[in-house]
Amino acid sequence: MAMGVAATSGRDLPIPHFGRDYAPRIVLENNAAVDLPQIEGDEGDDRPLVVIDPGHGGHDPGASGVGVVEKDLVLDLAKALRDALLEQGDVRVALTRSDDRYLLHAERFEIARRLGADLFVSIHADSAGEASEVEGASIYTLSSQASSEAAARFAERENRSDRINGQDVAGQSDVVNTILVELSQRRTQAESRQFADLIQREAEGAIRFHPQPRRSAALKVLRAPDVPSVLFESGFITNQEEAARLASPAGRKRFADTLARAIRIYFVRQRDDLLGEETDEANESTADDAPTETTSDAGPEAADEAPAA
Ligand SMILES: [Zn+2]
Repeated sequence: MAMGVAATSGRDLPIPHFGRDYAPRIVLENNAAVDLPQIEGDEGDDRPLVVIDPGHGGHDPGASGVGVVEKDLVLDLAKALRDALLEQGDVRVALTRSDDRYLLHAERFEIARRLGADLFVSIHADSAGEASEVEGASIYTLSSQASSEAAARFAERENRSDRINGQDVAGQSDVVNTILVELSQRRTQAESRQFADLIQREAEGAIRFHPQPRRSAALKVLRAPDVPSVLFESGFITNQEEAARLASPAGRKRFADTLARAIRIYFVRQRDDLLGEETDEANESTADDAPTETTSDAGPEAADEAPAA
């Protein structure tokens, strides 16, 4: 494949090159104790960075099915996605965990923020308990209520650090700070939904979806105010056939290729939005096939304390 050109859906798309400053960053105090993972991919900060988060790990196995445990399954899926992205080039990748270790939800998105990630994808597999016939993938974004609650908390923290979106806001009122954070967060949520739309579009015919494929919930792992974030439930581990499919090399490859394609198109769109360009490939509207979202404030991964989903 020629440098500077990516094969996407059988068409050639220009590869995005842009600086990290294409979106405002909220500067927070550097107080997380977690080790930062290595960034893989081409050298240079102008390549967009995806942080892939395999759910669960360590003492938290997640859901379990016949012969398959979620924490292992999603780690394999995450590595396959990383490899697919690195093979295509032009995107940098980091995994929140590349082995069997436990991370808090907040540590996961804090890794993405501190690395200056442009996109965060948390990968999980679902459980339907005894209902072993239930199957299909689904895509979660943060519910708007949870989003504004999180914005208020981040605004509070901002008052201590005196900087927001790179600007000195010492002496600004709490109201102004809250508005700035909310504006950034609203944009982040819109971009998260755009990315979710792209996954759904690109996965058509390749990945089987649940009848309610799009959901929003108060997921702690999605609460970065300035990194577009999606949680992908790759399928039901409690469905024996689906679990076997996801654990097979062919199933992993289908998952990885599909998400890599969606990620790539997302970055092309971001670049074009930034430049104000109109490219037919990148700006195809998905508004006419906008999916119906299910909102639940008690999603499967909602609580830090109940990571078993
Ligand atoms: Zn999970």
